[in-house]
Amino acid sequence: AAKRDPRQQWTIFQPEMNETMLRRHKLELQLRQALKTGEIQPHFQPLVELRSGRVVGFEALARWVGADGSQRSPAEFIPLAEETGLITELSEQLLRQACLAAKQWPADIRLAFNLSPAQLTDKLLGLRILHLLEEVGLPPTRLELEITETALIQDIGQAETLLSELTQAGVHIALDDFGTGYSSLSQLSRFAFDKIKIDRSFIARFEEEQKQEKIVRAIIGLGQGLGLTTTAEGIETPSQLAQLQQLGCDLGQGFLFGQATATARLTPPLDLAHLAGDAPAP
Ligand code: C2E
Ligand code: MG
Ligand code: MG
Ligand code: MG
Repeated sequence: AAKRDPRQQWTIFQPEMNETMLRRHKLELQLRQALKTGEIQPHFQPLVELRSGRVVGFEALARWVGADGSQRSPAEFIPLAEETGLITELSEQLLRQACLAAKQWPADIRLAFNLSPAQLTDKLLGLRILHLLEEVGLPPTRLELEITETALIQDIGQAETLLSELTQAGVHIALDDFGTGYSSLSQLSRFAFDKIKIDRSFIARFEEEQKQEKIVRAIIGLGQGLGLTTTAEGIETPSQLAQLQQLGCDLGQGFLFGQATATARLTPPLDLAHLAGDAPAP
């Protein structure tokens, strides 16, 4: 039980806290080890053009694949990597692997890669990324970096410098999880984005809530007005697909088209009429 030292203001012993810290410490050691042994790998989820069904890119999603084949999701280890500073090394390893994979794809297929908010404070990040692309031999125009709104507001000046370094070299920038962060609209006017990705939460509640549909319609209109490509995340059902096509959303991503796999599934254009076919009329 916790016991207070009368001379001091803090609690000196808390078994629950101790346990959490131990578990965290253990996980950190495991993560360092996993980085060394190559257990942290990118998997690839297709990005599909909703007019044609063409696969136009893949988003690299980090997976921790254990020796026994078990998989851990990024939600479990990315935050820890951010807190411990391991994110720089982890992200560089992932990006290198992802770029090497992307080099083998047809030249018109892009690689989308997520950056953590914590990474944007690294003044050398832009240079590091451009060096890596050169080293691997992937043209910058094949890469699209996904950044969340939260990441941008942490240090606006720094983010601006970074993004202009990258966009000048030809790298594309997508605003990820659009609609869930802060001051989205001021971010849109300030930074040179190519694309907005509508957060999955809006698409998930499409069917039951008309309001969500109106919000998505408005975001797509905003994107069109600003000359940006819009992508809908988390498309799972035929009716979501049919509705997004009708609204003129450019690209889509979701389990309906495919989950992330260890090697990118390069397929001929998907038969979207068939995929959306079971949809009830909107
Ligand atoms: P995100 O960038 O928004 O990635 C999309 C997430 O939605 C992925 O989860 C993906 O598997 C999931 N998803 C895609 N389609 C569907 C669908 O139809 N239904 C549902 N329910 N989910 C779908 P995942 O792989 O667990 O990644 C979660 C988040 O972790 C990512 O969100 C991203 O923010 C972060 N992350 C992933 N890989 C990396 C990485 O290499 N570096 C950094 N910094 N963050 C990463
Ligand atoms: Mg993303
Ligand atoms: Mg996203
Ligand atoms: Mg998301």
